[in-house]
Amino acid sequence: MESIPVKTLSSGHIHMPIIGMGTAAYPIVTSEDTKWAILRAIEIGYRHFDTSPAYISEHPLGEAIGEALRLGLIKSRHELFITSKLWFTDAHRHLVIPALRKTLTNLQLDYLDLYIIHWPISSNETGYTWSPNKDHLQPLDFKAVWEAMEECQTLGLTRSIGVSNFSGKNLAELLRTAKIIPAVNQVEMHPLWQQKNLREFCATKGIDVVAYSPLGASGTLWGTNQVMECKVLKEIAKARGKTIAQVSLRWVYEQGVSFVVKSYNEERMKENLLIFDWALTEIESQQISQITQRRGFTAVELVSNSGPYKSIEELWDGEI
Ligand code: NDP
Repeated sequence: MESIPVKTLSSGHIHMPIIGMGTAAYPIVTSEDTKWAILRAIEIGYRHFDTSPAYISEHPLGEAIGEALRLGLIKSRHELFITSKLWFTDAHRHLVIPALRKTLTNLQLDYLDLYIIHWPISSNETGYTWSPNKDHLQPLDFKAVWEAMEECQTLGLTRSIGVSNFSGKNLAELLRTAKIIPAVNQVEMHPLWQQKNLREFCATKGIDVVAYSPLGASGTLWGTNQVMECKVLKEIAKARGKTIAQVSLRWVYEQGVSFVVKSYNEERMKENLLIFDWALTEIESQQISQITQRRGFTAVELVSNSGPYKSIEELWDGEI
């Protein structure tokens, strides 16, 4: 079993394994298959899991945790680091605590390790689908929603709180009134979208960046194959006897950034952990730093003339 290093979050004693398993599957798989994949992952050594009500994976994750305890794969739930997210339909002050309680019920847990605002937007629709009615999109009330997130932490429903898909501008807005600094900002990051500006900004504020889609989300609806087909990465992988996935994940790790990577294939789950006993050379790092940059996931679904973001440039504060 692989042992994964942990990172201490700004919230103090919270130790987050730097590799987490993502559970946003595309095409959607059955609950049974998700549970199977998560159980295999626990057996292989994954201890950090990333879910959201929008991924329909909270329930099978909860089932897998219960089964792992019964099988003795883990002795206690405390060995795990569980992240879930506040979907934009629930991003209203009065809906935050009920949404987290529902998530905890789905997961059959008493507390989360990390609860994050999924997107810097809200909507007055209900449900968790990824095709919002654009007429219902609204600005996020940063102050009120973050206050409710802070209350979630104070109540002990989650050990830390954070955000996702926040630009530097969004973070600055939130920090104007925040009493608790977000522990993390979970954003797209990989060699083709290195997030240098945002990482620098987060570092000055004590916010950890967690990379999602570290392989570019190849084969999914929201991703591209550009990372897995990148010539520079391919050449480094070939020269080093590693896979492109391992080169990409090792590069993220060497930036001091933790990541959540999704595979439901046992061999690839193992492969994605094998990044700790080797390092990129200075020349290889230099070559990766020169790769042309382009955001993979623009989330154009959240852009609308009547909503808070009129263009993808506005959503990402020019970083596209
Ligand atoms: P990833 O970059 O993790 O890529 C996942 C895809 O790569 C899957 O198709 C997987 O297929 C494949 N894959 C995994 N490992 C390998 C490998 N070693 N070689 C070849 N292919 C591989 O994309 P995700 O978008 O899934 O990101 C990871 C997680 O981040 C998500 O699952 C989710 O939890 C989170 N996320 C958060 C977002 C947010 O808005 N906060 C947005 C997007 C993702 P297979 O399963 O067949 O191996």
